Amino acid sequence: MQKTLALVDDPLFFKHVAPAGHPERPERLHAARAAIAEAELDLRRLDLAARPASDEELARVHTHAYLHRLNQAAGRSGYFDDDTFYSPESVAAARAAAGSAVVIAEALIQGTANFGLALVRPPGHHARPDGAMGFCLLNNVAVAAAHARAHGVSRVAIVDFDVHHGNGTQEMFYADPSVLYLSLHQSPLYPGTGTLAEQGVGDGRGYTLNIPLSAGADDAVYGAAVERIVAPVLEAYNPGLVLFSAGFDAHARDPLAQMQMTDAGFRALVRRTLGALSAGVGVGLVLEGGYDLLGLGRSLRASLEGLGEGPIPQIPATVLWATHERELSRATAAAAEIWKLA
Ligand SMILES: [Zn+2]
Repeated sequence: MQKTLALVDDPLFFKHVAPAGHPERPERLHAARAAIAEAELDLRRLDLAARPASDEELARVHTHAYLHRLNQAAGRSGYFDDDTFYSPESVAAARAAAGSAVVIAEALIQGTANFGLALVRPPGHHARPDGAMGFCLLNNVAVAAAHARAHGVSRVAIVDFDVHHGNGTQEMFYADPSVLYLSLHQSPLYPGTGTLAEQGVGDGRGYTLNIPLSAGADDAVYGAAVERIVAPVLEAYNPGLVLFSAGFDAHARDPLAQMQMTDAGFRALVRRTLGALSAGVGVGLVLEGGYDLLGLGRSLRASLEGLGEGPIPQIPATVLWATHERELSRATAAAAEIWKLA
């Protein structure tokens, strides 16, 4: 039977107006929409309406004090930090972005869709429990994961392939074994977190897994990371729901980072990750970064095509750069220690 892709998009996301020259701009969504329209998907498309996330939903991962400060920014323009702007409708857009991620999670939990895409701005994975950060106002993917937990999903996995480390998401679930946070990111790079040693605390130890990679990592490096670490850990964890923090700034064209991923690499990453899941597990993509319009569109399209049926793309057996090989060996060893990987 043909599978279903639920999609949430909303005009409000364009009204989060960026200052001149800022990379996180509304045009990103035009590029993403155009790419989706062109995608060759063997999936039924189900368009769902966005809704604002409620205070209760947001307060599962954010503090009341921060939500209060955020509300006070509604209708105004300014900056939460050097990079993180807001325009008069940004708070409404951020609430709708988090709500859209929740709508996707609900569709996946209820089984009305197999896959989901929240095509949102502002992005979310840097947003901390008590504050906006790094272009992010509310942590959309974390709000969705917490919602799934509150609605009976016992294990949620967040796979964050944005080129930056999702410090906010990590922080929110650092002591929580019911949400596995797996991140592939360029290091060193903003925000500076996401070392191998950051593995969670208390009951959450082992349920944060970082794969920091130095600049220049390409499809082969990401493919090897998925084969050696992401896929086996997901098989061991056996989540009931998977959410991708889907940033496309590891694309070779991206101006904010120095990775060398291509569209094919994103397709393979998504497809191979799906191959590690039990049958029927819902998979949602929540848009994060990606600042080259062509690179964003192409790699988003490729990722969606990766959700479809068809063979799992083989990652070419390439000899990796010694640096990347060493980084992957360390990350594999760290994961194996906790997850008893074969
Ligand atoms: Zn990013």
